[in-house]
Amino acid sequence: MPELELIAGNRATRVVIECGLIGRLCDELHHSGAPVPAASYSLITDHNVGGLYAERVIGSFHKAGCEIREFCVPAGEGSKSIGTLTKIYEWLASNGVGRDGVLVALGGGVVSDLAGFAAATWMRGVPHTICPTTIEGAIDAAVGGKTAVNLPVGKNLVGAFHIPVFVGVDPTVFATLPRRDIAAGVAESMKHALITDEAFLDWHETHADAILAGDVEVLTEFAVRNIKIKGDVVAKDPLERTGARMALNFGHTVGHAIESCGEYELRHGECVGLGMLAACRLSNIVGLTGTALTERVRSLLRRFDLPTVLPKPLDPDALLAFMRRDKKTRAGKLRFVLLEGIGKVVIDDDVTDEQIRDALAMLNA
Ligand code: NAD
Repeated sequence: MPELELIAGNRATRVVIECGLIGRLCDELHHSGAPVPAASYSLITDHNVGGLYAERVIGSFHKAGCEIREFCVPAGEGSKSIGTLTKIYEWLASNGVGRDGVLVALGGGVVSDLAGFAAATWMRGVPHTICPTTIEGAIDAAVGGKTAVNLPVGKNLVGAFHIPVFVGVDPTVFATLPRRDIAAGVAESMKHALITDEAFLDWHETHADAILAGDVEVLTEFAVRNIKIKGDVVAKDPLERTGARMALNFGHTVGHAIESCGEYELRHGECVGLGMLAACRLSNIVGLTGTALTERVRSLLRRFDLPTVLPKPLDPDALLAFMRRDKKTRAGKLRFVLLEGIGKVVIDDDVTDEQIRDALAMLNA
């Protein structure tokens, strides 16, 4: 059974990746440094995931002789809001959940960000565990301790770092994900490979069909490798202060701008894929790489049916305006994560608007 320990500052998270784990979640949690048994367990999930998997998770608590209550939020980004958070606080209060309670997040990144922030703030912080059910949730949102809700003026503007005590990944739950959502999650995995490890990029090329077919052995290896990569980056920069974590932003400057334009029904991962393509092209334009890297990324995106051009052309100046509003922008200056080669990240503050427009033009082709 693959087991990892992720270190972030003075906190550690035990991670287990195993088929069938959701039916044993409570036992695994109890082996992970959470209070045993806690005074109360509060399960937070969304309506889709709750209908599919909550019963098995709840059953694992009942088998261990523990009571657990369930709170279901509507599925989708709209639930990452102050309004939903308030409902969760009210529910916790009505159940008398104190500092000795544990929150259990079952779902994708929306649920883990929301439940994680509730755990970070309820009674000034209670322990939580995450059982991610999407690829994005497992390889990205569950690792690194970032939790947040959105405000109408922007995404993830209210948040906290709060490290879960346990993350349990059960690759069998990915079987109910639409193929498009699996592919969108793969874009984040490609990012991990591009910023750290060429052999892992080769692995994507070899295992594309198995990943898309939901092969659980391949998805187990996929999850282990990704969680290790993100965990290692986070360990170097747990609170995003030294800049090491900046590498994880590869493809996200343009990706977020495409997402924020809101003109398309594109998944986050699909926008990140387009953003990575633009970042590779930009790396080429500023003289860091040849054209081969862009071509390799483009053909891998295609293997996963991820878009390589925008569904309809977009004004590069509109995208530039969105990029300048990003919370990672420093004094109005755009900061790009570029590549000198696979695994060789360069942070560039000196890219010109002209070079950016040139790179973006490729997405309108
Ligand atoms: P999501 O949580 O909205 O899940 C996508 C959809 O899939 C939802 O409708 C959900 O109900 C459904 N679903 C989830 N698991 C399923 C399953 N096994 N079978 C069938 N349907 C299932 O989206 P996501 O892509 O998982 O996460 C996106 C969110 O994660 C964003 O809000 C993003 O900001 C956040 N995120 C956070 C971090 C972090 O470091 N905290 C990192 C990356 C992304």
